[in-house]
Amino acid sequence: MEQPIQLIVAASSGAVTLSLIEYLHHRVGGHTVRLGERLREAHQAHHRDPQEGGVALRTKYRQRLPLVAGVGSLIAGASWLVFDGPIAAAVLTGSVLGYLYSEGYHHHMHHRAPHTRVGAWLRRHHYVHHFVDTKVNYGFTSPVWDLVFGTYKAAETVTLPPDRVPADLDPGMGFVLRERRSR
Ligand SMILES: [Zn+2]
Ligand SMILES: [Zn+2]
Repeated sequence: MEQPIQLIVAASSGAVTLSLIEYLHHRVGGHTVRLGERLREAHQAHHRDPQEGGVALRTKYRQRLPLVAGVGSLIAGASWLVFDGPIAAAVLTGSVLGYLYSEGYHHHMHHRAPHTRVGAWLRRHHYVHHFVDTKVNYGFTSPVWDLVFGTYKAAETVTLPPDRVPADLDPGMGFVLRERRSR
């Protein structure tokens, strides 16, 4: 019988694995054609319209279900080969919860203002990727893998095009709206 601490470590390693998948999925799948043009185009649509036409978070979860089931099966299968059932189940649980958090957090970064300094910092981290340089800051929920792979870029302020920001953007949190060009 596994100790609770073993299950907690297993679930945490699932969440860490997921954060690496999140990074690679975004960097390789979203910004190159190596995982297919369809994946790249879906992500480029997010760059053109970060609010994605107002599509609800639960709709995104539903759309990603086949992908999550496939990746989840691979993670569960791989950990089943190495560990026993409860540990493999904990790894799977951690990775699925990590996915739900990652997808949800990314969605909210484009839809509502953060309430904490850490939230504002993470939003700026992601908005650097969107509006400054699409070759940096691939991590949605943390800068860890960007630091590991050398794609981290810091910014105190980010200048945004006024037509692609959420209505509740707080300019005091390090965001500056670009002036509309007058004719
Ligand atoms: Zn991107
Ligand atoms: Zn985004």
